[in-house]
Amino acid sequence: MRPFAYARAETEAAAIRAVSAGGPGTRFLAGGTTLYDLMKVGAEAPERLVDINALPGLASFDTGGRRELVFGAGARMSDVAADPRLVAEYPVLSDALWKAASQQLRNMASLGGNLLQRTRCAYFRGGEPFTCNKRAPGSGCAARDGIDRGHAVLGGSEACIATYPGDWAVALVALDAVVDVAGPNGARTIPMEALHREPGATPEVETSLARDEMILRIRVPATQLGRASTYHKIRDRESYAFALASAAVALRMEGEVVREARVALGGLATRPWRARDAERGLVGQRLTAEAARAAGDAALRGAQPGHHNSFRIELGARTVADALMIARQRA
Ligand SMILES: Cc1cc2nc3c(=O)[nH]c(=O)nc-3n(C[C@H](O)[C@H](O)[C@H](O)COP(=O)(O)OP(=O)(O)OC[C@H]3O[C@@H](n4cnc5c(N)ncnc54)[C@H](O)[C@@H]3O)c2cc1C
Ligand code: SF4
Repeated sequence: MRPFAYARAETEAAAIRAVSAGGPGTRFLAGGTTLYDLMKVGAEAPERLVDINALPGLASFDTGGRRELVFGAGARMSDVAADPRLVAEYPVLSDALWKAASQQLRNMASLGGNLLQRTRCAYFRGGEPFTCNKRAPGSGCAARDGIDRGHAVLGGSEACIATYPGDWAVALVALDAVVDVAGPNGARTIPMEALHREPGATPEVETSLARDEMILRIRVPATQLGRASTYHKIRDRESYAFALASAAVALRMEGEVVREARVALGGLATRPWRARDAERGLVGQRLTAEAARAAGDAALRGAQPGHHNSFRIELGARTVADALMIARQRA
């Protein structure tokens, strides 16, 4: 690991100023569970870190609002996951946090940092001798002819097929969350669905945030859909593993009939993936096992398998179907 300078900011404005003035080698630091990890494997080498953990209010959150739930970017995953209102009324949000990483990591890791975690692609993390367009733009993509078992079947490009690995962002996309950010040119709000980008020809550009923009908070509209919701995550082992396939699902039912549906996929795509065809197909239907399976197939329509990951198309469809049946039981 290369030496780096460290400074602790006391205000939002000071943090943004420091990162902006510091140039490309300067980064925000929250829990450090992703950033230090990437520095150790050499995938990132910042020269200066600006610690935002002392910023007043950044770690607070409020799930009691009538119009929206508000989560400070510095709130710890474990604190939010255990919030009683979230557990009772928005299980999709608490499940997505509980099922991520380990308790020790969740105690350190912030919600904002979680959104900005980078891919677990082994070629990206491994570095040389592997080629990687994310690490070295224009160098090629070793995963294309390599072991692509964990790579994306949706949203990939010729340049990159790396999966977006996070869970929380998938649940947020399903519930139409927005992200408030601030930078040297002022504040703005980004719909959660527009935060992460597909790789296209520039896989090194992963989000719509500027380098010196800080996430302040995440806001989720209060909705009745929260109660009948779940985050269903399938992985190689039952804890402390990233998703092979996951589905964030939320429903509004009248009796057996679906009146409103939200479906988003994790672990299968290059960014958190909203499955609107699946949602449309469910509305007005009785939610039978067959209807749930049809929604799963719709969610994975257009998926492009590589050499070793075609099994995840069937797995993804089944994950959506199972998630819908779990959510139905909660309706
Ligand atoms: C072994 C392991 C297993 C894991 N398993 C899972 C899993 O199953 N599911 C899952 O979802 N996650 C998983 N994670 C990822 C983990 O949840 C993230 O590392 C964590 O949430 C990152 O938060 P942090 O506060 O530590 O971020 P940091 O490491 O501090 O920062 C991460 C990035 O975000 C930037 N950043 C941080 N805060 C802000 C902000 N407010 N504004 C702008 N930029 C900011 C930093 O500059 C950095 O680039 C795992 C991590 C590890 C190490
Ligand atoms: S899939 Fe993306 S991150 Fe992985 S090696 Fe290819 S370009 Fe790099």
